[in-house]
Amino acid sequence: ENYSKEELLQRVKELEVEFIHLQFTDIMGVMKNVSITSEQLSKALNNEIMFDGSSIDGFVRIEESDMYLRPDLSTFQVFPWSGEYKEARIICNIYNADGTPFEGCPRNTLKRIINEAKEMGYTMNVGPECEFFLFNTDEKGEPSLETHDNAGYFDLAPVDLGGNARKSMITVLKKMGFEIEASHHECAPGQHEIDFEYADALTTADNIMTFKMVVRIIAQRHGLHATFMPKPKDNIAGSGMHLNISLANLDGSNAFYDENDKIQLSKPAYHFLGGLVKHAKAFTAITNPTVNSYKRLVPGYEAPVMIAWAESNRSPLIRVPAKKGNSTRVELRSPDPSANPYLALATTLKAGIDGIKNEVEPKNKVSSNLYDMNEKELKDLGIDRLPTNLKEAIIEFSQDKTMKDALGDHLFERVINAALYEWNEYSKYISQWEIDRYLMKF
Ligand code: ADP
Ligand code: MG
Ligand code: MG
Ligand code: MG
Ligand code: MG
Repeated sequence: ENYSKEELLQRVKELEVEFIHLQFTDIMGVMKNVSITSEQLSKALNNEIMFDGSSIDGFVRIEESDMYLRPDLSTFQVFPWSGEYKEARIICNIYNADGTPFEGCPRNTLKRIINEAKEMGYTMNVGPECEFFLFNTDEKGEPSLETHDNAGYFDLAPVDLGGNARKSMITVLKKMGFEIEASHHECAPGQHEIDFEYADALTTADNIMTFKMVVRIIAQRHGLHATFMPKPKDNIAGSGMHLNISLANLDGSNAFYDENDKIQLSKPAYHFLGGLVKHAKAFTAITNPTVNSYKRLVPGYEAPVMIAWAESNRSPLIRVPAKKGNSTRVELRSPDPSANPYLALATTLKAGIDGIKNEVEPKNKVSSNLYDMNEKELKDLGIDRLPTNLKEAIIEFSQDKTMKDALGDHLFERVINAALYEWNEYSKYISQWEIDRYLMKF
């Protein structure tokens, strides 16, 4: 809802809210919050809440650390699970002391790219499909890798013991304004998916952050641990976050739909696709930001490996679902839920609009199952692979000028440094796999 300051203050009073969490998201995609009592809300609404930016990972150095939170009033939501005290949240943008938007704020970054698209006459709509695992916790409350169920895709109760937790999550999400379209058990034991209705990119990025928070909190209340780690176990499917993307014209009509085209896609749709294909290697560093992300992007589990697109077929990077008209969209299948949603949407939107501006034709349309092709067949078709690890991805990313423009110098540099640091830490680690493989052999 779009509240004025006065309306919001009034609403907080009526609802007897006692604590308000001012939320924002750091570069790694982790939600942070500064809590205030409702008496301090009017101060917050005048953008007077300051925090120390140097205490947040990758934000700023100590010398320039005073940052301000500017609440986005339309994001006010009461936590439906509040206990003794009523609590609410407002999502904030981060500003510098001099009143300019802080370049390192992922939400500001997404807003900047959204405005760029708006100047071209488009709004991006995104519908995410977030998958996650529910694991048992031990006596100390520590998460394990044990699941409580042996159900599979679309299985029903009573095998699906996580079903109760999932129902409770859905009820809470609905109270917070989510339109839940579907929810089901996924392929792997303990794995679930809850789909909510698509919305403009900023709303969807906010929704993904809220969604992950709710899923974790409600799982905990059911004695379970919810994880959005992309590939917690080998030999079973990992968790993805497919992004269903379309552009709308300013009048709200679907800009990807053209009834006269042979697959009913418009020129901008083809070019947007072209931009996604062109920048796929680079934005993978953002849509798949962890070392673990690349253990999901392997053949055999419905996760994409090859940079290609297809109608309906679910093996390539991008699928164009058969349903057209107002539902015309492209489904980007590589992202996983460890991604920072603001940056994932900023970079994919930027890739798409670069495709439109430069009229990039989408290469690599395929019709057969890519998993069945050998290296030579793929090479003959000119089909390339996604990066196979974080290091490869970050090198691609650091060489892509469009990605640099998307994030701005500040974030671009920090994202690269953080990924290289992560990669170096990982490289030093000796895994159980290596011990099992080499200790006896050599
Ligand atoms: P799948 O067939 O891949 O399992 P789902 O049905 O689980 O897909 O999810 C489809 C998602 O696409 C939903 O979030 C839905 O709201 C979204 N969606 C539908 N139409 C559009 C559109 N025009 N633009 C963007 N997203 C859309
Ligand atoms: Mg789905
Ligand atoms: Mg579906
Ligand atoms: Mg799924
Ligand atoms: Mg999907």
